[in-house]
Amino acid sequence: MTIIVQKYGGSSVADVERIGGVADRVVKARQRGDDVVVVVSAMGGTTDALLALAHQVDESPPRRELDMLLSTGERITMALLSMAIQKRGEAAISFTGSQSGIITNDRHFDARIIEVRPHRVEDELALGKVVIIAGYQGMSYKREITTLGRGGSDTTALAMAAALGADRAEIYSDVDGVYSADPRVVPAARHLPELAYDEMQEMAEVGAKVLHAQAVEFARRAGIRIHARSTFGSEGETRIGDSASDDEGTRAVVGKKGVARVRGSGAAQREQAHTITRGALRDWVADSVHFDAYTHLDEHPDWSATLVALRAAGVQVDEDLGVVSIVGRNCAREPEIFTRFERSLADAGIGRLRVLMTPLRLSAIVRAADVDAATRALHAAMLGA
Ligand code: ADP
Ligand code: ASP
Ligand code: MG
Repeated sequence: MTIIVQKYGGSSVADVERIGGVADRVVKARQRGDDVVVVVSAMGGTTDALLALAHQVDESPPRRELDMLLSTGERITMALLSMAIQKRGEAAISFTGSQSGIITNDRHFDARIIEVRPHRVEDELALGKVVIIAGYQGMSYKREITTLGRGGSDTTALAMAAALGADRAEIYSDVDGVYSADPRVVPAARHLPELAYDEMQEMAEVGAKVLHAQAVEFARRAGIRIHARSTFGSEGETRIGDSASDDEGTRAVVGKKGVARVRGSGAAQREQAHTITRGALRDWVADSVHFDAYTHLDEHPDWSATLVALRAAGVQVDEDLGVVSIVGRNCAREPEIFTRFERSLADAGIGRLRVLMTPLRLSAIVRAADVDAATRALHAAMLGA
């Protein structure tokens, strides 16, 4: 029998009415005869509200307790959706991450899935039930509750799809797929009908919120195609799979605010910075004397304590920054692209603090206030409009 995994994000389950709409869709999929596993996020805004609550108690809350708190968001949705499906006459059962066999490493707030033991899920599917799984969470091998990093429900869906040998994974959000930039920032952004795993993963890693980077990694390893779709109206989709086209051009522009630059000198200080940030520094550049890296602040729920510790270690930290990137197979290969990248930022009057290159991308660290303008300028220069 065909197994389909569907994942519904926060905006798709934002209130009871929308949960009802999702239940209708799930029942329809089930009635087509497939086995259906549904992964849900917390109701829109819930995770942010829980984080804010924790920060009212302690501005650098202990991560273990944060995970206990944040994992409740998804439990609310899973129970309500299961009720809504059963109310519609279809058999359903909800499971937390740990009940569904999601085993992670022992990091809190940004745990990684190391194994999935989906036996209970398989048993319930065999009984003809729709299985609803709380996304974004798992249990460490020490039996502690963990969460997978912001946006991590996508990863639950793809890890579960891989473990079950699902035929496909459908990720439902408020956009009908992936665009050449965040359509909220760049109105001229173009819909991308197909995208390669590595391109999507690179986009996600530099901040394209539409999919979680580790989700794409699970999909790529298991060869499961991702269908990114909208819950609301539009029939469009983006299919993410093996190298989707021969298109060598720039595929997308990604902007991310909430970045801090971390710099210093000497091996000892470099190691301290690594330890204090729990390894969350990106795009390291280091020679025998200096190091230069940056970090995404949404990966640090305890940023104020981290900042104090970094400064105490003599590490220089610049806040209020962002990163803008162009992603595509030709970015690092053609000098002409590099020139156009630099020139379009300069023409828009945007100062760049640092420029970085990987095989699939070019990035610039800019002031946070310049991120949106930089994203639009790069989109116009690289992709038109
Ligand atoms: P969900 O809560 O369903 O997981 P997210 O909010 O995490 O949904 O992701 C969807 C959002 O991602 C969109 O509303 C859109 O603003 C944003 N986004 C950022 N970059 C892109 C992009 N390149 N293409 C489409 N959406 C994007
Ligand atoms: N609820 C979590 C978050 O807001 C996980 C997710 O939505 O994927 O980050
Ligand atoms: Mg998301």
